Amino acid sequence: MPTDIAHDLENPVDDRYSPPPCGELDEIRAVLDDGRLSGGAQILPVYERTLAHRFGAARAIAVNSGTSVLHAALIAFDVRPGTEVLVPATAPLPTAMPILTCGATPVPVDTLPNSLALDPTDVDRKLTARTRAAITLPLWGYPNDERAITGLLADAGVPTIEDAAQAHGTRIANQHAGTLGRVGCFSTHDRKLLSTGEGGFILTNDQELADRIDYYTHLGHLRGGHGVNYKLAGPLAAIGLRRLTHLDAQLTQRRRNAERILAALPPGGPLRELPYGVQDKPNYYNLVLIATARQPEIAAAFHAAGLSPDSIRWRYQPLYHQPLFQPYATACPNAEHLATATIQLPVHPQLAEKSVAWITDQTVRIAQEETAA
Ligand SMILES: *Cc1c(COP(=O)(O)O)cnc(C)c1O
Repeated sequence: MPTDIAHDLENPVDDRYSPPPCGELDEIRAVLDDGRLSGGAQILPVYERTLAHRFGAARAIAVNSGTSVLHAALIAFDVRPGTEVLVPATAPLPTAMPILTCGATPVPVDTLPNSLALDPTDVDRKLTARTRAAITLPLWGYPNDERAITGLLADAGVPTIEDAAQAHGTRIANQHAGTLGRVGCFSTHDRKLLSTGEGGFILTNDQELADRIDYYTHLGHLRGGHGVNYKLAGPLAAIGLRRLTHLDAQLTQRRRNAERILAALPPGGPLRELPYGVQDKPNYYNLVLIATARQPEIAAAFHAAGLSPDSIRWRYQPLYHQPLFQPYATACPNAEHLATATIQLPVHPQLAEKSVAWITDQTVRIAQEETAA
């Protein structure tokens, strides 16, 4: 398809997004003036209350990374050597590494077909007396409907940890991702929708659990119990507090860009959006398409166009293909399929009009060529 846009073929669109300035410097200056830059800065409780309110949870605890949040959540559920944690086979390394940090055994579980939700049959097969927690994962900010496993896990007394690191603003059954399990784990790393550079936060409605996680991540409040120092520094909380005000505008623009690409997709062609329910909304961390035929050819075509899918760009594949997790390999055919069939496209607000138009053109061209093939 002819296009008059001169794109760098190696990297025609930048998938990195940084929000427009929204008063971060003023907020950082206030922290500097206050004189305390540590996790003991006065802004921390303000940031935490604002997070809890924004995402509809009783409590939020800010910490220094998404990895720290996951580790602290696992510790809170007594994940120790000799115990097991169910983890979706679709999980990327950062979701599962904290299980190894605890010295526990990761148990990869397959997802349902064309879905990020855990397969109840596989969950049932892999639950044991040693299972301490199950991680669920709205990857790429796409809703995962976990209703099929809720009863199973409740009967087994196994809590759910949502790794919502990519899912700020994602809605699942009209609730915020990160508020459906016992705890929700968020990252505010630079690649996420809310960025403080490095950082993260936990959401929970369970006050007792929140107190325990706060205690563990804040050196046991130096009252004698064991803890680690996972506190978020004051200036980073200042950045997060201000950038939160921009999140809604960001979500709206991401959705608009995604809808534009989706509206142009030829009906009945080999590409459609990763499915989700009527009461769900992705946050469009990425727009995720799924190829219904010729999956390797379609992935290669996007790669050749400069829109490399995760399966090629990051060699994204089920967790147990990673050397670190090969000892825990198990057959997960649906996760295998999802890794090869999905195409992740950038739709962030910094994309110029012409870039969104160009991505749309490329997507339509590939859909048409692969239909004819
Ligand atoms: C980013 C990310 C993490 C880890 O967060 P960090 O802040 O980088 O430690 C965990 N899980 C998922 C799904 C992520 O995308």
